[in-house]
Amino acid sequence: MPQPNKNKKILFLDRDGVINVEPEGYITDWSDFEFLPDALDTIKRATDEGYRIIIISNQSAIGRGMCSKETIDEIMSNMIETIEAHGGKIKDIFYCPHTPDDMCKCRKPEPDLFFQAAEKYNIKLTSTWFVGDKLTDVAVAIRVGTRPILIRGGKPVPDISVTEDDAVAVVNNLSEAFEYLLSIDKLRVVTDA
Ligand SMILES: [Mg+2]
Ligand SMILES: [Zn+2]
Repeated sequence: MPQPNKNKKILFLDRDGVINVEPEGYITDWSDFEFLPDALDTIKRATDEGYRIIIISNQSAIGRGMCSKETIDEIMSNMIETIEAHGGKIKDIFYCPHTPDDMCKCRKPEPDLFFQAAEKYNIKLTSTWFVGDKLTDVAVAIRVGTRPILIRGGKPVPDISVTEDDAVAVVNNLSEAFEYLLSIDKLRVVTDA
């Protein structure tokens, strides 16, 4: 098996609340999908900086019987089309269709979607980032070893108790998340050189 390529810059993104406005219920139709104001520009910027973006998302509307897998896939492909028209790229999307009752291994904070992505693309998770908007996103990130950034969104973030090693960056939106991770990655390149 080939060694994981350390130079691969991988950025994992949660979808709802990171790329698009967090819905009140579930997004079961493309007309429910609303990009956050900074999302398209930031994804283009990350793409231009050489990051490969992989979306990791819970889509339990399928398991809840609220819409079909085909509908979710259609929403995803409309999203990708819009992102590409704006100059950005999404390398892949991994989503969990289950509900909490299914006790699956892929619904965040379960780690399986990250492991699937790592295996498919030979990714070393510890050199990646994951931007999400829920504490379960932070939890799964710490669990699999990707570095978490938490988007505050409009919601208050409850006190998070973490050790210094698990320190989590908290930002207001994807654009701030990206500027933060870029500054850290650039620093690391300088340090490593
Ligand atoms: Mg979310
Ligand atoms: Zn699942």
